[in-house]
Amino acid sequence: MQTIIFATQNAGKVREIKDMLHPRYDVLTMREAGVELSIEETGTTFLDNALIKARSVSDALAEKGQDSIVIADDSGIEIDFFDRKPGIYSSRWLGEDTPYEIKNQIVLDRMKEVPDDKRTARYVCALVAVVPARLIPGDFSAAAKAQELSVVETVEGLIAHEPKGNGGFGYDPIFLIPEAGQTFAEMTAEEKHAISHRGKALRALIQLFQSHHLLD
Ligand code: IMP
Repeated sequence: MQTIIFATQNAGKVREIKDMLHPRYDVLTMREAGVELSIEETGTTFLDNALIKARSVSDALAEKGQDSIVIADDSGIEIDFFDRKPGIYSSRWLGEDTPYEIKNQIVLDRMKEVPDDKRTARYVCALVAVVPARLIPGDFSAAAKAQELSVVETVEGLIAHEPKGNGGFGYDPIFLIPEAGQTFAEMTAEEKHAISHRGKALRALIQLFQSHHLLD
């Protein structure tokens, strides 16, 4: 089975990516692969930050003499009422260590009087994969370079009027999919993956891998 290293420390993302790729691919977190790095996300877009994370972990593995495919996820929520904030700052917004029950309640309190048509929001997910040169089939030249694949996907929703559900993570209890009449936190993992930004991005990335003959 092919091993993929996932460049994150975020437990919610790890659970979802492992869930979606199991049992086809074996997913190890960067820590499980022996990489302890604190990566500064200095980019200005989700894609920039995903690239920074994937390249940093790929370089760290190369230094240890390990060639593995690395995937990084940079994601977040854009709330139109707050001029698309927090965006790339979603995990740091309202305090890195503030529990999400409190962050979500702050969002709901600030949007108390906001009507439904102004409660639009979306999750965005950028996924980047770095494939080391040695793993690229048929490319045996000494000058062969690592290949980078990237995708960005979104899912549109509304900020709910109250938190609902215990599934998912982060802002999921207040992210409502109107067509389903449920927040992401009320859905099963399979229901969320079928429509989520991360589910869409992962399916698009796997397709890219397959069209480049980089994964079985
Ligand atoms: P990153 O680790 O810098 O990419 O930050 C991602 C942050 O975006 C998470 O910590 C959450 O705050 C938010 N986020 C991204 N995807 C989701 C999701 O699927 N559910 C809930 N929150 C999410």
